[in-house]
Amino acid sequence: MEGHIHSFESFGTVDGPGIRFVVFMQGCPMRCKYCHNPDTWPFAGGKTYTAAEVAKNALRYKNYFTGGGGITVSGGEPMAQADFVQELFTLVRAAGVTTALDTSGIMFNPSDVHRFDGLLDVTDLVLLDIKHIDDASHRQLTGHSNANVLAFAKYLSDMGKDMWIRHVLVPGITDDDDCLTRLAEFISGLNSVKKVEVLPYHTMGEVKYKNLGIDYPLRGVQPPSAERVANAKRILGVIR
Ligand code: SF4
Repeated sequence: MEGHIHSFESFGTVDGPGIRFVVFMQGCPMRCKYCHNPDTWPFAGGKTYTAAEVAKNALRYKNYFTGGGGITVSGGEPMAQADFVQELFTLVRAAGVTTALDTSGIMFNPSDVHRFDGLLDVTDLVLLDIKHIDDASHRQLTGHSNANVLAFAKYLSDMGKDMWIRHVLVPGITDDDDCLTRLAEFISGLNSVKKVEVLPYHTMGEVKYKNLGIDYPLRGVQPPSAERVANAKRILGVIR
């Protein structure tokens, strides 16, 4: 099975526990205004690799996967190439390596909930981005409803799948106390959340928009202050 891949990172430390080999898939249906990887959006781009080629590449670093490390597949949106990721995870797990899926959950369909069961069977940890708890604001921020995302979180909770919830904190967009409180309430209703991460918005992706000739939607928005990050962590009851 072949997958369209944007890039690899051999020693990732921010996408799951420990030191990880990170695969960034090509293609994403979302258009998050704060996305720092707009070059991963087109499904047509990237390079093509077989799952066996990627597994072989990742397993060269196996001895470095300390601290609970392993392989993370990120994006782009990895669930858009679920069959490829399932084959890749099956291969690396057979070699004793743990797997993490870094996803927006947007591909989940509440009327076809078993579509990704095969992939989830070989996924040890889901890193689920909840971009906004308020549906109208989620649509403004990403171009999509959050209904699939929240349904996916509940589905993972019901099956007892370990997950980390991640929330990018953008001043004036995702950081108001009311929405953070609603998000905290939603998370508190989930059974299998092992960690909540607040990811402060940064502007490092802005140059990529310029290079791609795309208007940067958050021009002028500054990263959150340390106080606002601490406030979000307090409201979300960040689990370390
Ligand atoms: S889901 Fe991720 S890759 Fe896709 S637009 Fe949003 S931030 Fe970018």
